[in-house]
Amino acid sequence: MIPTVVISTRGEQRIRNGHQWIYRADVASVHARGGDRVLVRDPRGRTIGTAFYSDRSQIALRILSDGAVERDPNDDELIRDRIDAAIAFRESLAIDASAYRLVHGEGDRLPGLVVDRYGEYLVVQTLTQATDRLLPIILAALEARMRPRGILARNDPRARLLEGLERRIDVMFGDVPESVTVVENGIEYDVDLRHGQKTGLFLDQRENRAAAAQYARGRLLDCFCYNGGFALTLGRRCQETIAIDISDDAIARVRENAEGNGVAVDARVGNAFDELRAFERNGERFDTIVLDPPAFAKSKAAVPKAMAGYKEINLRAMKLLSPGGTLVTCSCSYHVNEAAFGEIIFDASVDAQVHVTVIEKRMQGRDHPVLLGVPETYYLKCFLLRRL
Ligand code: SAH
Repeated sequence: MIPTVVISTRGEQRIRNGHQWIYRADVASVHARGGDRVLVRDPRGRTIGTAFYSDRSQIALRILSDGAVERDPNDDELIRDRIDAAIAFRESLAIDASAYRLVHGEGDRLPGLVVDRYGEYLVVQTLTQATDRLLPIILAALEARMRPRGILARNDPRARLLEGLERRIDVMFGDVPESVTVVENGIEYDVDLRHGQKTGLFLDQRENRAAAAQYARGRLLDCFCYNGGFALTLGRRCQETIAIDISDDAIARVRENAEGNGVAVDARVGNAFDELRAFERNGERFDTIVLDPPAFAKSKAAVPKAMAGYKEINLRAMKLLSPGGTLVTCSCSYHVNEAAFGEIIFDASVDAQVHVTVIEKRMQGRDHPVLLGVPETYYLKCFLLRRL
């Protein structure tokens, strides 16, 4: 028998309105095991589409294909086609980097699958029961299409626990060295694919780094710098660059990357909140400031505190910015949407008693596509502002 899940009328409404997820509360009956690809039916027994089913996550179903035509949910060709389409799209973008995202989950209609390319190596994350079970098919497709030297499964994200999956890191194919060198916007980075944040680098900021570089000049401050992506890309155009991160490892990498690329960066371990305050006390001024903090709001409940955090750093940065200077300010909290982030920035400018204009409103790079109907796929906001 074909694995099948029947959803409630409310669930059906959600699907008809373009949503791609069905929560457990909207599941009426299940004839499937966790990790199955299933047929989805409405309460009257009509087929709505196929989906990935999870018996653990609050997100019980993630739609794979829609339509009333009954098709075999276990169609491996569909998975291969989606991977091929995702790769072909990246090839069409002519990305100025050897590291970028090849598959971005729902944005490529492969819910719960992430694949990043780092030169000749691939890093895979299977974040749902179904994609985890499909890993052999996914690996075979990636090997055939990309001919990588090695594939690493970076399956350590906490999100896997919600699916009842363990956290682990394994080489799945070939060899994966301790350190891989990639180029982005003309800057070389040594990346630790096993231990770096995310899959090694914050690939979603590549285009924002390039865009911000157009306005960078004078004295640059990069807060929450991680491996120095903004500091290095913008620092080439600046007289002086200070980069701050709370992690010793991150700062050690910034120093190595700065040396390797011949960009002078004063990289400091510190808490950005304290450092911004200290700069203000000392009456310092910057011409270009980057704020790219971690997601302050990881849940809805954390939003009020997160908003206060975003406001504080933006307010302080605006005060530190010299007139005519550029503020690059980001939020990767999905729970703080673009409109909310815009209001926080406006509030910060009112409190800082400065006028700012918006030069560009940007988002995550094109290799991290946003699927309308899944607001969670639009998570990164990046505003380029000018202080008047
Ligand atoms: N701008 C980076 C990505 C930043 S990710 C890039 O372009 O690659 C967020 C970084 O903030 C992480 O490296 C984390 O170590 C750092 N961080 C978290 N809390 C911090 C704090 N209070 N002060 C300074 N850095 C912090």
